[in-house]
Amino acid sequence: MDLYEYQGKQLFRRFGIAVSEGRLATSPEEARAAAVELGGQVVVKAQVLTGGRGKAGGVKLADDPADAEQKAREILGLDIRGHVVRRLWVERASEIAKEYYLSVTFDRSEKKPLFMLTTEGGVEIEEVAATKPEALARLHANVLEGFQPYQGRRLIYGAGIDDPGEQKQVLDIVGKLYDCFTQSDAMLCEINPLVVTPDGTVKALDAKVTVDDSALFRHPDVAEMRDIAAADPLEAFAREKGVTYVKLDGSVGILGNGAGLSMSTVDVVVVAGGRPANFCDLGGGGDAQGVVDALEVIVRDPDVRSIFFNIFGGITRGDEVARGILTALERMSIDLPIVVRLDGTNAEEGRELLSEAAPPNLHVEPTMLEAARRAVELAA
Ligand code: GDP
Ligand code: MN
Repeated sequence: MDLYEYQGKQLFRRFGIAVSEGRLATSPEEARAAAVELGGQVVVKAQVLTGGRGKAGGVKLADDPADAEQKAREILGLDIRGHVVRRLWVERASEIAKEYYLSVTFDRSEKKPLFMLTTEGGVEIEEVAATKPEALARLHANVLEGFQPYQGRRLIYGAGIDDPGEQKQVLDIVGKLYDCFTQSDAMLCEINPLVVTPDGTVKALDAKVTVDDSALFRHPDVAEMRDIAAADPLEAFAREKGVTYVKLDGSVGILGNGAGLSMSTVDVVVVAGGRPANFCDLGGGGDAQGVVDALEVIVRDPDVRSIFFNIFGGITRGDEVARGILTALERMSIDLPIVVRLDGTNAEEGRELLSEAAPPNLHVEPTMLEAARRAVELAA
């Protein structure tokens, strides 16, 4: 789950990382009121779950409350790469002497948290990595030892920060960011830019935090930060039903049991000359309710022209899945063609059940490739 900047900053503040004082606003009038409360120059910032807001005109300085209201009017409703701005964060403007970058994320190949720090902040980190890789200090944390100050110092020297005052503050922030990362079950905590003000104070001017969905049960306060309105309605519906659903841009709806099989199914549909409309994972189960839920999600996708049901029976038995499919089709009427490939445990029984009782729009194919070809043909 991605957090908005203001939510990320709320989390940072909780862990003692310096951020500017600010207010949330959803209208130009609220932005004006926020500017009155904060006093002086403010920065009006679009709250959308995508980066590069500055370049897209979503971050603007305002000199006084009237100006803040005007800037809010310009930013609200703006479409930033498909994200419409409905919330603003108005914070006390900072003077910037330097812009650094600091993040901690997972390095999956090393199986360790990875810190990255550079004095070349403010721009996309991919750009720094590509054009000036020597400026990017990288350091793996040892999760058993936890964060150690000597590691932080190594990171800071690596990035070439030589001012003692900055070193001290950045070291403190690195430690706190590590606490925030581990204690929030985050997958990414990024500060870009981490600024140094003219008087030498270091603070976070932006916040990008992603929390592991699977750990949200441990963080009800974070879980309730989710903005239902910003999510794709179909994805929200799928989440509500407990179905893993990923939207793709083709016309074959895919339902598999298990993420690995579902992903292979995506590939096979492409091999057969088609394009998947989505990727739906039933998980380990295949009971009637699970099948109904997944089918309900798939048929709501207007791009779906045929449904490819790909099941490999392991612990889930083929006859059970077949019964699930039949029950689901009794409970809901589906006009779209459905192609089923059943293999593995009790596949034979499952296929028999289907061929005895299945409606005419349900086609049973013996192999994954044949089923993919049929689904692609029916989607054309
Ligand atoms: P992003 O473009 O989505 O990453 O949004 P940021 O929050 O990083 O803001 C973009 C840029 O706006 C920053 O890199 C800063 O240069 C600038 N900016 C943001 N807040 C302030 C501020 O308080 N004062 C000044 N002078 N510039 C700011
Ligand atoms: Mn930024």
